Amino acid sequence: MIRILGTGMAGFGAAHRLRQEGINSEICLYDKNSYIGGHTASFEMEDGFIFDDGPHISFTDDKRIQRLLADNINQEYETVKATVNNYWKGHWVKHPAQCNLHGLPADLIVDVLDDFIEAKHTSNGDITNYKEWLYAKFGKTFAETFPMVYGKKYHTVDAENMDIDWLGPRLYQPDLKEVLEGALKSSTPDVHYVDKFRYPTNHGFVHYLENFKKLGDIKLNHKVVGIDTEGKLIRFSNGKTAEYDEIISSIPLPELTTNIIDNVPDEVVEAGKKLACTSCILVNIGIDRNDFTDAIWTYFYDTDIIFTRLSFPHLMSPNTVPEGCGSIQAEIYFSDKYRPVDRTPEECIEPVITDLKRCGLINEDDKIIHKSTGFIPYANVIFDLDRQEALKTVHGYLDEVGIRYCGRYGDWGYIWTDEAFRSGEEAAQTLVNSKLVAKK
Ligand SMILES: Cc1cc2nc3c(=O)[nH]c(=O)nc-3n(C[C@H](O)[C@H](O)[C@H](O)COP(=O)(O)OP(=O)(O)OC[C@H]3O[C@@H](n4cnc5c(N)ncnc54)[C@H](O)[C@@H]3O)c2cc1C
Repeated sequence: MIRILGTGMAGFGAAHRLRQEGINSEICLYDKNSYIGGHTASFEMEDGFIFDDGPHISFTDDKRIQRLLADNINQEYETVKATVNNYWKGHWVKHPAQCNLHGLPADLIVDVLDDFIEAKHTSNGDITNYKEWLYAKFGKTFAETFPMVYGKKYHTVDAENMDIDWLGPRLYQPDLKEVLEGALKSSTPDVHYVDKFRYPTNHGFVHYLENFKKLGDIKLNHKVVGIDTEGKLIRFSNGKTAEYDEIISSIPLPELTTNIIDNVPDEVVEAGKKLACTSCILVNIGIDRNDFTDAIWTYFYDTDIIFTRLSFPHLMSPNTVPEGCGSIQAEIYFSDKYRPVDRTPEECIEPVITDLKRCGLINEDDKIIHKSTGFIPYANVIFDLDRQEALKTVHGYLDEVGIRYCGRYGDWGYIWTDEAFRSGEEAAQTLVNSKLVAKK
């Protein structure tokens, strides 16, 4: 029996590959939640609003996954241009800010340009952290005004305590000509790494997973609380147990090593505790109009604005709101290691509304017709300087005890839905290749 722990993209990626490979054994997927999808879950409210578990769009270039998801929903998806912007001290700035400085205070632009040119002519030696990388790529003024401040709000940790192995295409690196053009012209080419995206027309992002339900026997409300790797037995909080031949887990690594697997060596427990992750309070707001922005999401740099990012689900699909209405989802980040949660989600509602009014997105006379909250205990992996070594220890131990890991919180990486799906597929493939499971 193959037990897959988690019904998010990674868990379903694993089940999908096992089925594709014609695996004979029974496949069972477990989730602690009463619904499938993990982070790709969507919540349909009684008043007609739909909010995802944090904003989710599909921007994968992987044609195979595009096709698979589209087939799952009978091709009923929206294709949307990804308009993204930034808010800084009353200015709305096209994204990425480094090549869209036009309209910002002249003194700031001069300093950014001066430092940018100097950085281009300075040899940097070995770059050992994110702060050094930002100084080298953008110069001190831009680094300290924008990405270091945003990074602290989003990752909860200072740039000098962050590695650079998560960057990928995330921070655009313009040449001098692009920076100058962006400083002088009000219109610039779009260079964001997400250009267009897809989103299910109906029922929110989780609808993409609907067809995956048939891949295995799904057991919801089954929180794994113990794994005996010698006796090959899983224990659940509802009192049930399940024997296993193989496990593929997408459960967050620190949970596995600290709370779940029996008799984990102390050094592995300690390593697991060093793996840091943000948590996120979500505040969902519904308004009786939908003309307050054309950005799909906006990054907020000001430290006195409570939210880090806003997204606008009504622009992903009009069917996520009652007709004529608009919706806003605010994200506020914390982390056990660097900024422990110090308020309840409900306590964030009024400050979010106040700041939405302060930055002019909504007005005093707007009718707020929906308010709700959510909490994501594991949001983004923090790439602090402890991560690499701690991860090696934890993964090494899981390899030893024969637990296969996958997904954002099994790989412990900054991966998107398509990558989580492929990660699950890869974990399943290693199992198939090991010939430990029988094919039809
Ligand atoms: C705020 C936010 C916004 C994002 N936006 C995007 C986006 O726009 N596009 C994109 O492609 N990606 C986005 N992502 C990333 C995306 O959510 C993840 O890459 C992907 O969903 C991870 O899937 P997963 O299966 O690895 O993890 P999860 O979805 O977390 O699945 C793990 C599953 O394990 C279950 N589980 C955990 N512990 C236990 C236990 N003890 N017992 C049983 N079950 C358990 C959980 O309930 C969950 O269902 C975003 C992530 C966040 C946090």
